[in-house]
Amino acid sequence: MKLILLGPPGAGKGTQAQYLQNKLSIAKLSTGDMLRAAVASGSELGKRAKDIMESGGLVPDDLVVDLIRTRIAQSDCSSGFILDGFPRTLGQAEALDNMLKSENKHIDFVIELKVNDAELTKRIAGRFSCTKCGIGYHDDFKKTKVAGVCDECGSKEFTRRADDNVETVAARLQAYHKQTAPLLPYYKNRGVLVSVDGMAEIEEVRKQIDDIVKIKEKIT
Ligand code: ADP
Ligand code: ADP
Ligand code: ZN
Repeated sequence: MKLILLGPPGAGKGTQAQYLQNKLSIAKLSTGDMLRAAVASGSELGKRAKDIMESGGLVPDDLVVDLIRTRIAQSDCSSGFILDGFPRTLGQAEALDNMLKSENKHIDFVIELKVNDAELTKRIAGRFSCTKCGIGYHDDFKKTKVAGVCDECGSKEFTRRADDNVETVAARLQAYHKQTAPLLPYYKNRGVLVSVDGMAEIEEVRKQIDDIVKIKEKIT
């Protein structure tokens, strides 16, 4: 199964992608995570992406398309993958289509997480993640079961993203509405877009996504 999770920053893409990765045993490809790893490693790509990410803009298409092209060619993606945070522009969507077409493959579903800007701001302000295993949490909406200890791996170290601040969030939301939202009609026209109420609680959103994935499982 090949899925795209589409939605503004803070909509819950990473949270649901993490769940789907375990449920479907397929790879999760997050361009945000890949780019943060590149920045941390100090690679050439990281150097080019760092300032853009800090300002809340989008990294140039050719850089992220190359990342995804390389990643999709790896063996763990042969049975499918979940794209989290890619594509984010029409150029990226077209590049992805061409990549898949050349191998006679296609995207099964694009799952849109619909969330309003006020809620996104709250979600981003309270977001943190485990430094060791990467699982995501929220100060109010998804706390650790034991304060200060990761549910999954027991680590006591947590990270907050440098770009999760009020000024950058405004720029990221603007980038979403201007550059990414045009992907909604693009995928609607191809008949693969399914919209989900992303304002609901995490469990409820998960159930809506489960129902979409089940349709596909029945067909194949
Ligand atoms: P969010 O969780 O807020 O949706 P991500 O972790 O996906 O954010 O991305 C963080 C930043 O990385 C973006 O603001 C952007 O600068 C860069 N980025 C991630 N994915 C892409 C992409 N597909 N195209 C361009 N820039 C990207
Ligand atoms: P994205 O990957 O789209 O940027 P995340 O999955 O990182 O979004 O979610 C942003 C923040 O909101 C995280 O702190 C996460 O725990 C929390 N969150 C995710 N989904 C929901 C939801 N349905 N309701 C409330 N909080 C949520
Ligand atoms: Zn952990």
